[in-house]
Amino acid sequence: MFGEIKLLEKQADYDKLIKEFGAKRFSPKILEILKTRHKLIEMGFFFAHRDFDKYLEIFKRGGQVAIVSGRGPSNYIHLGHLIIFDFIRWLQSELDAEVYIPLSDDEKYVFNKVKTLEEAYKYAIDNALDIAALGYNPEKTHMYVSSQTKWVYKISLELSRHLTYSTVKAAFGLTDSVNPGVVFYSAVQAAHILMPTIKYNYPVVVPIGMDQDPYMRLTRDIAAKIKVFKPASIYARYLRGLTGEPMSASQPETCIFINDSPETIKRKVWNAFTGGRATIKEQRELGGEPEKCVVYEWLMVYEFKDVKEALEHKMKCVSGELICGVCKEKLYNALIRFIKEHYKRKDSIKNKIQDYFDHEI
Ligand code: SF4
Repeated sequence: MFGEIKLLEKQADYDKLIKEFGAKRFSPKILEILKTRHKLIEMGFFFAHRDFDKYLEIFKRGGQVAIVSGRGPSNYIHLGHLIIFDFIRWLQSELDAEVYIPLSDDEKYVFNKVKTLEEAYKYAIDNALDIAALGYNPEKTHMYVSSQTKWVYKISLELSRHLTYSTVKAAFGLTDSVNPGVVFYSAVQAAHILMPTIKYNYPVVVPIGMDQDPYMRLTRDIAAKIKVFKPASIYARYLRGLTGEPMSASQPETCIFINDSPETIKRKVWNAFTGGRATIKEQRELGGEPEKCVVYEWLMVYEFKDVKEALEHKMKCVSGELICGVCKEKLYNALIRFIKEHYKRKDSIKNKIQDYFDHEI
């Protein structure tokens, strides 16, 4: 069945992206080595990779592997962010991997997303708690605030000599009006990704959205120049925002923040974009259009336990058996359940957050 489940394909031409970025689709073969299958790979949310097969080969031969995934702390975390971090938690347990989580206060500062570094720091600590609450192994998880971590500057400087201004400018489409911190941040990002390889010889995989791929390509070029393992990547498609637009913290109606009240969640879900018809009568006659439906997409993440359940729901929608109110109620209940459980776990580790920061890097 793998690869044949076209639950999400109509929303974007991912094949074209795969070709353009030189990535490969996940195949069942490369994942045979993993003990379990993540439902979001089966459902096509994590759909492609670059060199993840080479990375898994090293793991298969008994090598220690690492995962790097950063968080830019400019706001409270929303559920879209947690999807990637929950996937990484799963991958950590599958591979017994060391996980490095840079909290990039410097990035948010130079890109003018926060007023002060102190503001970014406040979010960094709160975001760290949300990430740790997903169930990371504290023994193998290394969080750090980028501007406060000594080695970041040293390694960034060393790597910056392997970049040119024109390469960075072209890769990100920068204009001459950006501040130099934005340009230098490419070296900082490369330092985050390559540190586990430079320092410990661990191969690294980075789960990312495709829009972040320019950083990966620059970093892989640097890795080739300094002759270390080129970091692998796993590509995620983004869950669409509730309004149908991309999820963005600066447009609160598109996403559910972890600290949204039940009333706010209800309003956002009830206003969500669906593939439903104008009237219930039409819906019964013509059926809904789940490929267009954001509520269906979110149910895939927060409600359905597997592809089979997602497909059954899809059939009920298409046949007109379902109406959108039922799905919205289901989604609202699933989100409230998820957030309640999340807060329980967050509270239970509140006094232990240092365990995730204390490791010698
Ligand atoms: Fe979406 Fe459910 Fe409406 Fe179908 S019935 S379009 S799945 S909300």
